[in-house]
Amino acid sequence: MSQQAPSPPDPLSPAQLRELFHRHQFRPRRSLGQTFLIDGNIARKIVAAAEFTGREPALEIGAGAGAVTGPLADAASRVVAIEIDPTLIAILRQTVGRRAHILQADVLNVDWADLLGSQDKGRWRVVANLPYAITGPALLRLTELWEWVDRLVIMVQDEVAQRLAASPGTRARGGISVRLQLLFDVARVARVARTCFWPRPRVDSAILLLKPRRPRPLPPELDSTLRRVVRAAFAARRKTLGNALAASPDLAISKHDAISLLSHCGIDHTRRAEELDETDFLRLTAAVAAREQERPA
Ligand code: SAM
Repeated sequence: MSQQAPSPPDPLSPAQLRELFHRHQFRPRRSLGQTFLIDGNIARKIVAAAEFTGREPALEIGAGAGAVTGPLADAASRVVAIEIDPTLIAILRQTVGRRAHILQADVLNVDWADLLGSQDKGRWRVVANLPYAITGPALLRLTELWEWVDRLVIMVQDEVAQRLAASPGTRARGGISVRLQLLFDVARVARVARTCFWPRPRVDSAILLLKPRRPRPLPPELDSTLRRVVRAAFAARRKTLGNALAASPDLAISKHDAISLLSHCGIDHTRRAEELDETDFLRLTAAVAAREQERPA
């Protein structure tokens, strides 16, 4: 009688995860945001949010021990999983094996064109349970995936999720909300309790679904102007926009010029940054860029 191969360890089982870590002498590091999902329902919810039809390739960032990589491999046409930690790479090879293309890489440095090529441009679905310590820079890297993806499902601290999805006029609204929502429609999928992870983090998380807005609302050559305009507007969020823009070294304009720029864009200079929507910021960015072309510094 032929013997069946033993099934691979299940990273969603706390007991099997601990046993795996023990065998590999692995201790989770807070500096790398190493807290692992141990709830199968949440893993399935993440994959379901990406709405696979079975034909789309998946990219996973920070695959860890493979809690989401397995369910992802069941749903996607293929999976590329990146992870920075060499011990977790060895663990992934055990839990996921050949069901995913596993790569040791740093999300902050990886060259997207090199990794993803051009064949499936616009079709990738990305899943990332982002390490807390690098949420900001990692998010910026994810926005660079705009042209490759048609869905991004990310898990971040709940408080960060609220900021990313914040509507105009709400207190959680900030520069990052504007910059992300300019390129993506951002929807909250679910809150995830801290008890769904091991080791248990200090705060709850949330899952967000990001869908790229096409055509690209802002030409890439205006990205850096937008960044300066947003930074200037939110640097002094209690100030009126006229005062905030004039006070910012990012724009170097007088109050008179700030007010006339805003009025040219149909924006009342006594409003505050958090009240503006994406289209306001688009007009303002275009006006600043046009002004700077007329009068180079
Ligand atoms: N996806 C797994 C899960 O849900 O259980 C692990 C999530 S854990 C919050 C974040 C993972 O990202 C860790 O495995 C960590 O080693 C990895 N990581 C941290 N910094 C990274 C980086 N710069 N590039 C790629 N992966 C990174």
